[in-house]
Amino acid sequence: MCLLQIKNLYVKINNQIILKNLNLNVNKGEIHIIMGPNGAGKSTLSLTISGHKKYKIIQGEILFQNNIINNYSIDKRAKKGIFISLQDNIEIPGLNNLFFLYKSTNSIRKYQKKKEFDFFEFKNTVYKKINKLNYSPKLLKRSLNTGFSGGEKKKNDILQILLLKPKLIILDEIDSGLDIDNIKNIANIINNLKKQKKTFIIITHYKKLLNYLQINTIHIINNGTIIKSGNKYLINKTKNKGYECSEKKNK
Ligand code: ADP
Ligand code: MG
Repeated sequence: MCLLQIKNLYVKINNQIILKNLNLNVNKGEIHIIMGPNGAGKSTLSLTISGHKKYKIIQGEILFQNNIINNYSIDKRAKKGIFISLQDNIEIPGLNNLFFLYKSTNSIRKYQKKKEFDFFEFKNTVYKKINKLNYSPKLLKRSLNTGFSGGEKKKNDILQILLLKPKLIILDEIDSGLDIDNIKNIANIINNLKKQKKTFIIITHYKKLLNYLQINTIHIINNGTIIKSGNKYLINKTKNKGYECSEKKNK
């Protein structure tokens, strides 16, 4: 089943066309990788799917579960089951992280007509999930992402995924700031979610994460459009063309 379909998409930011004739089909339960040089339009694509107001669709369609979602608000998309982990996580001083997780989880559960958690039940669920993540419980008491290290922000996003249970998960450079043990751990979680028929679009520069994932398709994006798609071997053919950061930079 096609979960996400992008047809002939053109997107404009501040009067500049960034995405051009972009087409992408993602079936339920698949892992798709998107790679490409800096400025190719990868984050623009993820923010457009999220429904960010700045990214104006001037042509084309985005279909999620066979419905055109071009005009859906950000929160409606989230409630329908689309989750985006942003390349640059937003810090919100004064918004307690655990409270944020509690409110967002319950608002999505309410929309999906699932039973809402009471706070103590939720706290227990969160503590069970963080055990798997090598995640310090102290982060729950702090303000959302505020002063978190790069890796802690990314782990907080993974925790959100485990709580919100989205259908389509878009990860924009989730591997930046993570050491190899955390990369392996997160790859493991992603592979397990794939077994549960969750669907992923993973934007990355690094081959390291790819080595551990059960990938269906890799897409290369350049100049606002997907120029090539193929299986995991595609990356070996393109690795010297600047789509991947050098190993040195990664350390
Ligand atoms: P990538 O994630 O592939 O590195 P981006 O999607 O962030 O690339 O950016 C694609 C292009 O769009 C770049 O040229 C970038 O400068 C431009 N761009 C992105 N966001 C904005 C914005 N808010 N205003 C103006 N230009 C933008
Ligand atoms: Mg980007």
